[in-house]
Amino acid sequence: RAKEALTQTVCFYEVSMDEAARRRRLIANDLWQAVRRDELELHYQVQKAVHTGETLGYEVLLRWHHPVRGTIPPSDFIPIAEECGAILPIGEWVLREACREAASWENAHKIAVNLSPVQLGNADVADLVQRVLQETGLDPRRLELEITESTIIGDKERALETLRRIKAFGVTIAIDDFGTGYSSLETLRSFPFDKIKLDRSFMSEVESSPEAKAIIRAILALGHTLRVPVLAEGVETRNQLDILLDEGCDEAQGYFLGRPMPMERIRAARKASEAA
Ligand code: C2E
Ligand code: MG
Ligand code: MG
Ligand code: MG
Repeated sequence: RAKEALTQTVCFYEVSMDEAARRRRLIANDLWQAVRRDELELHYQVQKAVHTGETLGYEVLLRWHHPVRGTIPPSDFIPIAEECGAILPIGEWVLREACREAASWENAHKIAVNLSPVQLGNADVADLVQRVLQETGLDPRRLELEITESTIIGDKERALETLRRIKAFGVTIAIDDFGTGYSSLETLRSFPFDKIKLDRSFMSEVESSPEAKAIIRAILALGHTLRVPVLAEGVETRNQLDILLDEGCDEAQGYFLGRPMPMERIRAARKASEAA
């Protein structure tokens, strides 16, 4: 009896594990086709100077419109794409699209592109960046690559070497989701970065938690001592923006300033406000 029950439990467990694995396999399979089938779309989210409200640039955020499953958020498919390797063709597509888009603007706004640790671990990524810049004619100083600390925790020497090559083109590097990793201070000491993006968990707590505010203040001091601007992610209210202004934060991004959306919609909104 006990043995039978155990067998059943084990089987049930294996079936559900199997289901999850099967779903991942199906998604991975579809991911390889996504670029070719034109299912990927870029959304753009504005980044502004806190003090002046001036638009500085846009972060590119990937959307996948799956023909059957509907729109799948990046948090669901990026990890699978990283695991199965599809992140390489997808990441290349994102970079090329983003640079082409930015090169077509009449202004000199920056374009910030997220770079996966898997891309950074790939020896060819610096060549890719160089090639895409040449193809699109984008001024390298207008391209920013966002990397997370986890990127750096992997093969550190190799990542460093690649980042140095990329920076030599004039491209800048931002540390994304700063404050959530394991080795923030070590990262700051050894990495050639140009901006700190403060993780949005601090913003969501800044009004209620003196500790969150103290940490923001400390990271701002750190950034400014190192002469690196700090951008606060996840600004959702006027009040949060006012706090950032008080604290001397340099840049901000979040729903209060603008939701991620396709560039056509940003253009239409800009035209409408110019006409008004
Ligand atoms: P991230 O780079 O930290 O991007 C910021 C995320 O916060 C985005 O989620 C954005 O939509 C969301 N966000 C922006 N403002 C607010 C706000 O005020 N409140 C809240 N609650 N959320 C806000 P999204 O678009 O779902 O992307 C999630 C993550 O997926 C990104 O985090 C990034 O790590 C990854 N990702 C997105 N696009 C790409 C890509 O093209 N390549 C790679 N490798 N990763 C990407
Ligand atoms: Mg980012
Ligand atoms: Mg972030
Ligand atoms: Mg994030």
